[in-house]
Amino acid sequence: MVATVMSGKLLSDELNEEMKVEIIKLKEKGLVPGLVVVLVGEDPASQTYVKNKEKRAKKLGIHSVIERYPETISELELLRVIDRLNKDEHFHGILVQLPLPKHIDSTKVLDAINPAKDVDGFHPINMGKLFIGQPDRIPCTPYGIMKLLQRYDIEVTGKNAVIIGRSNIVGKPMAQLLLMKNATVTIAHSKTKDLAELASKADILVVAVGRGHMVTKEFIKPGAVVIDVGMNRDENGKLIGDVKSDEVQEVAGYLTPVPKGVGPMTITMLMYQTIESAKATLTSQSKL
Ligand code: NDP
Repeated sequence: MVATVMSGKLLSDELNEEMKVEIIKLKEKGLVPGLVVVLVGEDPASQTYVKNKEKRAKKLGIHSVIERYPETISELELLRVIDRLNKDEHFHGILVQLPLPKHIDSTKVLDAINPAKDVDGFHPINMGKLFIGQPDRIPCTPYGIMKLLQRYDIEVTGKNAVIIGRSNIVGKPMAQLLLMKNATVTIAHSKTKDLAELASKADILVVAVGRGHMVTKEFIKPGAVVIDVGMNRDENGKLIGDVKSDEVQEVAGYLTPVPKGVGPMTITMLMYQTIESAKATLTSQSKL
């Protein structure tokens, strides 16, 4: 068996086309979705991520601005920036690029973002809503994975899902989204015993660890759906996933590639939620 490739790139392209049309319609109503990215310091990886987000936003017709601040900005000054952006009607989405310098408490800054503009879905209010089953803004990576499962007609109800990794941005919200779709969910982590044995019972296996090629064919139930979230560099600097794809693809039924799998979907869902936030302002205005 050779696994079907679940292409995040193809689905992203499809969703981009739909979003472009949606944005044109919103502009006709006088509403231009706006996204502001706050970038502190000179971290090269952050610079690249931010540029990619801006490029994608502009391509779709989203009004996109990067606000750059020096490494030396104080926490109070940054909180004032967030306060100003919360009030700025041109921006429906605010994203603070992490990591922030050590002297700034990132939790405090993220918590200061208006939850309605929290297009990353990291705010405790949005997390809380998700975990009581009333999602509003959803962390983009697991949201993108749910879209991929849907696009490839993968039935989730009644399936055994195992997620390796329990981070707030991937593992935990992923578990909740799968639970909401009636999977039976297990979350594994670095202290889990007999990981390969546990994983090999999964109909749906999501791997979000950050260890290149950790998941080998012994982890895989024949025919399973395998989602590889990992983004790691090998010794030659090549981007690789957490899953050893060359051997896993011989056992799995479906597999997301790295690159062009989960990665493109994350950024797509960021744009999607910016549009959703913009649309929400229309609805709230029409309620007045
Ligand atoms: P974190 O480092 O926050 O979490 C990693 C998780 O993996 C932890 O829960 C940790 O367990 C667990 N873990 C570590 N080692 C093992 C092990 N040997 N066996 C089992 N579990 C283990 O990472 P993130 O969730 O932020 O990211 C995970 C990966 O996904 C990274 O490669 C990251 O780059 C990538 N990523 C990709 C995105 C995309 O768009 N494609 C978006 C976000 C992340 P414990 O809690 O016990 O320490």
